Amino acid sequence: MKSTNSVFTGLPTTVFEAMSRLAMEHGAINLGQGFPDVDGPEDVRAQAASALMTGPNQYPPMLGLPELRQAVADSNKRFYDLDIDWQREVLVTSGATEALADCLMALVEPGDEVILIEPLYDCYLPLVKRAGATPVRLRVTPPEWKFDLDAFEAAITPATKAILINNPMNPAAKVFSEEELAGIAKLCVAYDLYAICDEVYEHIIFDGAKHRPLMAFDGMRERAVRIGSAGKTFSLTGWKVGYITATPALLDPIAKAHQFVTFTTAPNLQKAVAYGLTKGDAYYEELAGELQAKRDRLADGLARLGFAVLPCEGTYFVTCDASGILPGLDDVEMCRRLTVEAGVTAVPVSAFYGDDAPSCFIRFCFCKRDEVLDEAVARLGRWIRGEVPDVVAG
Ligand code: GLN
Repeated sequence: MKSTNSVFTGLPTTVFEAMSRLAMEHGAINLGQGFPDVDGPEDVRAQAASALMTGPNQYPPMLGLPELRQAVADSNKRFYDLDIDWQREVLVTSGATEALADCLMALVEPGDEVILIEPLYDCYLPLVKRAGATPVRLRVTPPEWKFDLDAFEAAITPATKAILINNPMNPAAKVFSEEELAGIAKLCVAYDLYAICDEVYEHIIFDGAKHRPLMAFDGMRERAVRIGSAGKTFSLTGWKVGYITATPALLDPIAKAHQFVTFTTAPNLQKAVAYGLTKGDAYYEELAGELQAKRDRLADGLARLGFAVLPCEGTYFVTCDASGILPGLDDVEMCRRLTVEAGVTAVPVSAFYGDDAPSCFIRFCFCKRDEVLDEAVARLGRWIRGEVPDVVAG
C-alpha cells in the first residue's frame, strides 16, 4: 500500500481529546480541555433555536450571512476602532480552527517559513507543515513569558512569510504588551511579513486590561489577518463559528480556501452569533469579570495546596509548575496520576511544544461552576494529604 500523508499519519489524537477521554474513564473532574460547563447566554441560544425552525437552513452565502459579517465589522469598530468593510473584509468560518487552516493554506506555500511562538496551540504545527511551509519556532518562557523582539528579528530570513501570534495566549495566559505588539508590527512592516492573529480570547482578558489587536498597529491593517471565535466569546464551543477580518487582497485567497474546505457554516448558528455580537457592554464586562473571579478562585486554591501558579492575564487557563507536588515526574505522568488518583484532570503543557519542551508545567481550565472548581481543589487537597477521594476509590 502506498503511504498516506506524512504530516497526519501517526499524529497522536489531540491532548484535549485524550485527556477528556481519560477524565471520563476515571470519573475525574475535567479541568483539561477548555470548554465552559455552563452553556452561553440563553437569548443567543433562543435565537438559534428559532432560526432552526424559521430558517435559514439552506446554504448561506459562502462568505457568511450578511448580518453576521456586518456584526463582525461593527464589533471591530466598537471595540478597536477599526473600520472594516463587511462585504469585502469579513469571512465566517466553522470555528477558529478552520480559519487558521484557511489562512495558512491561502497565505503560505512550499519554501516559505512561518514563525510560531511556543508554547503554541496544538493545531499550528501540523497546519503549517501541511501547507508545505517550514515552521520556525520562537519561545516565551515563564514566569514573565516575555517576547524577545531581537530573537524575532534574528529568526527572519528572506523566506519568512508570516508570523502566527496567539494573543491572549493559550496556554501561557499571557497578554502581549503594547510594546511587544508595536515591536512585532514594526518588524512585520520592515520585513514585509503577514501576521496571522489568533485572537479567540479577545474578550477574556483581566484586571481592567483591554485587548489590542495587532491589526490596529501602524502598518498592520494591510498585513494582519484577525481571527475570532464565537465559541469563546459566547461560551458555545461546540457551535464552531469563527470569523476572519482581513484586507480584501488577503481575504480573497483565504475565502477561496474556505470555499473548498467547508464552503459555509450552519446559518442558524450564524444568525444567533450575529445577534450575540450586538449585546451591550455589560455582557462583555460580565464575561471577563466572572472568569476573573474563577481564575482567582482556582489559582488561590491551587496555590494554597502548594502548586506554583503562574500569572494569568487572559484566556480561561492557569498554568502551574507542579514539580513541587509531584517531584520526579514529567507533566504527562503528572496529569495521568492526578486524573487516576486524585480525580482531577489537567493538560500537560509539553503538548504545546514541537520538541524540547519543559516538563514541569500543567494547565488547568477554570471556566467551570464554582462548586466544580472547589471540589477539584478539595480532591487535590485530599490526594496530597494521602486521603483517597471517594469517587476514585469507588
Ligand atoms: N482550545 C481548547 C483548549 O485549549 C481545546 C479545543 C479542542 O479540544 N480542540 O483546551
